[in-house]
Order: sequence, then C-alpha cells, then structure tokens
Amino acid sequence: MALIRNSKLRPRVLVVGGGYLGLVTAQNLLKNLGRGEATVTVVDPNPYMTYQPFLPEVAGGSIEPRHAVVSLRRNLKGAEVVTGKVTKIVHADKYVVVEPEGDEPFELDYDQIVLAAGSVPRALPIPGLKEEAIGLKRIEEAVYLRDHILDQVAKASLMENDEERRKALTFVNVGGGFAGIETIAELEDMVRSAVAQYETLTEADVRFVLVEAMSRIMPEVGESQAAWVVEHLRERGVDVYLDTFMQDCTDKLVKLSNGEEFYADTIIWNAGVKANPVLVDSDLPLDERGRVTARADLRVEGEDGVVEGAWAAGDNAAVPDLSGGGVGGFCVPNAQHAVRQAPVLAQNLLAALRGETEFKQYFHKNLGAVAGLGLYKGVSQMGDFEARGILAWAMHRGYHGYAIPTIDRKVRVFAGWALNFVLGRDVMPLKDLEVPFKAFVEAAESKPAPRKEPAKA
Ligand SMILES: Cc1cc2nc3c(=O)[nH]c(=O)nc-3n(C[C@H](O)[C@H](O)[C@H](O)COP(=O)(O)OP(=O)(O)OC[C@H]3O[C@@H](n4cnc5c(N)ncnc54)[C@H](O)[C@@H]3O)c2cc1C
Repeated sequence: MALIRNSKLRPRVLVVGGGYLGLVTAQNLLKNLGRGEATVTVVDPNPYMTYQPFLPEVAGGSIEPRHAVVSLRRNLKGAEVVTGKVTKIVHADKYVVVEPEGDEPFELDYDQIVLAAGSVPRALPIPGLKEEAIGLKRIEEAVYLRDHILDQVAKASLMENDEERRKALTFVNVGGGFAGIETIAELEDMVRSAVAQYETLTEADVRFVLVEAMSRIMPEVGESQAAWVVEHLRERGVDVYLDTFMQDCTDKLVKLSNGEEFYADTIIWNAGVKANPVLVDSDLPLDERGRVTARADLRVEGEDGVVEGAWAAGDNAAVPDLSGGGVGGFCVPNAQHAVRQAPVLAQNLLAALRGETEFKQYFHKNLGAVAGLGLYKGVSQMGDFEARGILAWAMHRGYHGYAIPTIDRKVRVFAGWALNFVLGRDVMPLKDLEVPFKAFVEAAESKPAPRKEPAKA
C-alpha cells in the first residue's frame, strides 16, 4: 500500500469528513493559517458537503438537490481535497488508510487529525429493514425518494387491483424526531399536490403512517408543541402511532407492535443516528455509544488524559455540554452545535500548532428549534416563544436559507423558493434514474427493420 507522506517542511492537518464540522473547520483554518504554516487536507467520500436539514425539502420537491450540497473544492481553495473514504485510523503512528472509489487504498500521514466523520443511521436488527427500507442522510436518498414516490403515484393511477394500489400508495416513516417529522410532513404535502393531477386517484387512496417508539414526538420542542404537531398531522390524514415499534418489514409487509399489519412499498427509517463506525477501526478513545470522547476544548481525551494531535466535535464526538443542556451532559448531534464547534476547534488547533497551551472552551446554549411541515406549515420553539403554522414555516425557511454555507447556495435556494412560489412545486418524476442505460440497451437490442429489396426500375 502506498504511503503519501507529507512534505515535512510543514505539518499536515488532516480533516476526516467534509460535512458541516469538517468544511467550516477547514475554512477557519485556511483563513487564519500563516503562509506555509500547515497543509490542510480534507478527506470525504463525496466531493461536497450535504446540508442535511434540507433533505426533507429535497425529497418533498421544494429544493433542487444540487442546491442543498456545497462543493468542497470550490470552497476550500488552498486545501488538499481527497475524494475517498477513511477506513482505518492509526493515531499511534499518525496515519490513516484512505480508499478512493474504484482505486487502490493508500496511507496518508498527518500531524494533527480532526475527527469530523459525523453519524450514520442507527438501523436496528429488524427483519427486512436493510432490504426494504431507506434512510435519509444523503442527498442521493432524498433524490431517490422524490422520484420514487412521484413514480408510485403515477403507477398507482393506472392500477386496477385495489390491494396493489394500496401498497403502492402506503408510505411509512419510522421515527418521530425532527428529521422524521419533517420528512413525513414534506412528503405528504408533495403527494397531495401530485394526486390532484390524476383523475383516477383521490387523497383517500393515499396512506401515510408515522411510527414512533416513544410516547411523544420531537423531543427538541416542548410537550404542547409536540402534541400540536401530532394533531396537525392527524388532521392531514397521517396515521400517527406512538409507543409503537415496527417489528418486521420483510417483503414490505409491515408488522407493528400494536398488532397491525399492512403492505407498504415505501418504508423510510429516520429513527436516530449513531457515531460513524469508522471510529471503531481506530485506536482513539470511544464511549459506549461509539463516539470519540472529547473535552470542552475539543481535544480528544481518553482515560490516560489528552490525546495529543487529535481533535473531535460534531455528530461523531461526545463533547460535554457546558450549558447544562444536552443528553447525559453531552452536546446533542445537530448542526447548531457542529457549526459553532468548528471555529472553536480551528482556533484551538492553531493555538496548539503555535505551541500555545491556553484553549477556548466550547459553550453554546441551545437556541431552540424550527421545523418545516410542508408549504406554509411549520412549528418552532425559541425559549418560551412558540410559533405554529405560517410564521414558524417562514422562520424555518429564513433560518436555514441563511444557515446553508456559501452565498452561492443561499442565492440558489432562495431563488428556487421564489420560483416555486410563482410557478408552483414541480411534481414531475424523472424515470429510470437507477437504470439510466436501460433505454440505450433496449435500442441496441431491438430487432432491425426488415430489409426490403429496392424496387426495380
Ligand atoms: C434529515 C435531517 C435533518 C436535519 N435537520 C436538522 C436541523 O433542522 N437542525 C439541526 O441543527 N440539525 C439537523 N440535522 C442534523 C445535522 O445535519 C447534523 O447534526 C450535522 O450535519 C452534523 O455535522 P457533522 O459535521 O458532525 O456531520 P456531517 O455533516 O454528517 O458530516 C460528516 C461527513 O463525513 C463524511 N464521512 C463519512 N464517513 C467518512 C469516512 N469514512 N471517511 C471520510 N469522511 C467520511 C460524510 O460524507 C460527511 O460529509 C438534520 C439531519 C438530518 C439527517
């Protein structure tokens, strides 16, 4: 395996993951590093950062997919951007193994490492889950969901068999946290607009089911807001099941813990996240949930004290929440923390590079939460201030339109919303995205036209 050594003229800062934390940390480092002070290398399997809070709106057809991702190369001028997956971290010898897609793995050495690999869906060992369900953590999943769901509506409009049609038009979302609620609400909104275009379908043909294991949804907002959202979804015809588990979904037959069974062609898993499993293939200290353990100054710390040259924050780290909030005393995995931890991490890492020993502590008091529930519908909670309906929806759009990194993306997102406002949401599915070669293969295999003898003069 090749080892890509850094020129020892300057130290390498290796950022594992170019998501929210990785992108903003690298930007802060590049802005503040002196000339030739260090090389910043960012490794990510994707050439872009995904703005995950927009995934439900991408799936719901309100945001164009490319507008919800941010190019790493374009926004990290001066950094080395490596498109590949880190598969192993050996901090004792300060190198990682990188697997670029379709190429040989190689080793990459470093002086300082930033662990910013985020989280992955917490998929439970439920029969049928990994075969039949889809998560919503990646832009590709959101794109697939939009086209798949609109295609289901189109296909169902031609189905004469009631059972088949019911199965095609039953959409299940497991998980009633923020992501799950936004997902089911955006999709329900889109499907309602789509169904209106078909004479053979009515809203009564469509079934949306929300399954939540706890007795309430959205722990990020207060009880009364959460209860209002349940009522709101029920008024829109969504079947909301609380205190309920999905026990099986083999062959798309959904079996719930309340005894109900039904077929559903679309099952979305939004039931929480866990730290990126790449950390398990490292010699870094992890907690019982697989997160790298970090101090409030974002240096990695194990039982033997600070691990020199290692930094962590975001979804893949257990960072103490000094505000007294959080779950179990640690920052919850959200973008609100990741984006604020990044500049602190960059500042402290620079201080360490310069031999300083004073580090800033990360402190952030939760600002509250805003969620979109489809066009002109939302819910929010900022301290004691609670909003519902169009005001909360406008707050949601305003906040996330402002929060997506880069002016380029902000402009594209706002322009898209403005166009949708004037022209309406585009509910046309693109076909065969999973098999784009199909039409060409069919053409290549089609029978040649029968040869006709040229007419004799
Ligand atoms: C549907 C949805 C809605 C959300 N809505 C909100 C919201 O409204 N408000 C909010 O505050 N938060 C929200 N979040 C959570 C928020 O998006 C995350 O907490 C935030 O992105 C965490 O940032 P991060 O940098 O730690 O991880 P990420 O942004 O996930 O970045 C991790 C990066 O690491 C890369 N990576 C993964 N594996 C490897 C590897 N082996 N090697 C190298 N790189 C790797 C990934 O490709 C990714 O780019 C939402 C999440 C989802 C899924």
